[in-house]
Amino acid sequence: MECNVLIDRMLGLGNDLLALLYPVSCLVCGDRLSDESYLCSYCGDYAFELSNKDRNEASEGMVLPDWITMQEALWEFDKGGYLQDILHHVKYSGLANLGVTLGEKLGYKLLKNPFMRITDETVLLPVPLHPSRQRKRGYNQSALIARGIAEVTVAHIADQGAMKRVINTRTQTGLNARSRKENLSGAFLVTDAAAFLDRAVIIVDDVITTGATAIEIAGQIRGLVKEIGIATIARA
Ligand SMILES: [Zn+2]
Repeated sequence: MECNVLIDRMLGLGNDLLALLYPVSCLVCGDRLSDESYLCSYCGDYAFELSNKDRNEASEGMVLPDWITMQEALWEFDKGGYLQDILHHVKYSGLANLGVTLGEKLGYKLLKNPFMRITDETVLLPVPLHPSRQRKRGYNQSALIARGIAEVTVAHIADQGAMKRVINTRTQTGLNARSRKENLSGAFLVTDAAAFLDRAVIIVDDVITTGATAIEIAGQIRGLVKEIGIATIARA
């Protein structure tokens, strides 16, 4: 490869990185943005409703126990589509504001959900990351989403130490429903029961697929809480 071609490529890469860190265009439609919300107001309001309208990539059979009273998601997962890209950015690119922005949108949707009323007694429980994974990633994407929800509702976020992930489980990707359940068994531990006692708790995650993660967590707090709901950005 010629030297100037290499330099060109490196500059291109630098620009991509810069665009990611300081976005000037909407992640969905590419329109120019005036603030740092990552999505233009049109896409922010409508992009999620348009996604996967045929539901042809929808759930591989999520079955939640009936004692989970509410399950809400911002959008249906579009495999290979732009929403998948956005979610990837939230999880791996360190776009903290994007996680919070999406959380706010989810929060507005939760306010309209008829199955669970959010009050100032409602506790948001972001799915904990194992400390070693959180150190590596630098942040917990579920906590960013919960922050967004808390900003537009009266719900509170559970203290970070109230529940811990004590086993660094392997990724759930590629596992079937049964293996997902086994993989997560014993992964979470309540360390501050008072944080959940008699509260309505909403478990917050980026994606729900079979529901194995949320159900495992819900099982740990079930005996303490008044009510349990699940809120995620996407439903796969
Ligand atoms: Zn847009």
